[in-house]
Amino acid sequence: MNILAKSTLAAAALAASFSAPALAADEVNIYSYRQPFLLQPLLDAFTAKTGIKTNVIFAQKGLVQRIKAEGRNSPADVIMTVDIGRLDGAKQAGVTQAVSSPVLDKDIPARFRDPEGHWFGLTTRARVIYVSRERVKQDTITYEELADPKWRGRICTRSGQHSYTIGLIASMIAHKGTDEAEKWLAAVRQNLARRPTGNDRAQVKAIYAGECDIALGNNYYMGKMETNDKEPEQKEWAKSVRIVFPNTEGRGTHVNISGVMMAKHAPNRANALKLMEFLSESKAQAIYAETNFEYPVLAGVPIAKRVKAWGAFKPDDLSLGEIAKHRKAASELVDKTAFDDGPTS
Ligand code: FE
Repeated sequence: MNILAKSTLAAAALAASFSAPALAADEVNIYSYRQPFLLQPLLDAFTAKTGIKTNVIFAQKGLVQRIKAEGRNSPADVIMTVDIGRLDGAKQAGVTQAVSSPVLDKDIPARFRDPEGHWFGLTTRARVIYVSRERVKQDTITYEELADPKWRGRICTRSGQHSYTIGLIASMIAHKGTDEAEKWLAAVRQNLARRPTGNDRAQVKAIYAGECDIALGNNYYMGKMETNDKEPEQKEWAKSVRIVFPNTEGRGTHVNISGVMMAKHAPNRANALKLMEFLSESKAQAIYAETNFEYPVLAGVPIAKRVKAWGAFKPDDLSLGEIAKHRKAASELVDKTAFDDGPTS
């Protein structure tokens, strides 16, 4: 074999090894911030239905930077993550593409998807108040009421700069304007029992320990604590509290989303769209919502029994696109009010 033939063969082999995954008709590559156990039941159902194989790359952070670094050669087809902060962040970073799909438009209410088609909500989670069963007797509450001096030294929360808190503050800005939101946040700060620290579950633990009486947290953590066989002490934390859904008699409880996006250079675009549409259909909606104790976005899909037991509520109908617009202002208010320093006295 002459040198030319050899190098041609080598080039062909190289081309094959690079292009094979990209051209495979039966695969889809998922970059996920969501833990694999949350996705696997869904992906198994998807493969059973379509014959399309799924490959998951899971990371707790850095996926957007990775996709950026991979550029045009990125194998990412679909990105799955939680919170409007991360969804909108990926869009702003330029690693997603607009998707137009009559199925997604029909299944997913407009307020849970990007008007420009870059992100689609698949489940919703409510930002609720966990209250001490022992020390708090009221059955209703509002976010506004957290500023009332009656709560002085009694509220726990995670950092104001965490995306879950930012979403709530952004919704306050959308409803009340920046000035009102600032006054509210400054007053809530003075009612804190301690400097914001730890995650949502740590706040419930603090109620259990008697450090505070009420705490902000996402609803699904109740389920994660109630069913935690690995750390059974969390079951005790859960027993010490109940969930009160704020603003149910008014504008409704703030909800955020988990969602899905198509990567900008998705090599398996058709399969990616099939997966996205599959995730919006009733079977997947029921599985996905139940696995993480969340709520389906598709109307008519039953809510899991355990989740239902925490109570019915009215979700705020503010669009997540509107909330995204106020995220920067919300973050600035957290700094301006020195919220994360905790109460001054
Ligand atoms: Fe969470």
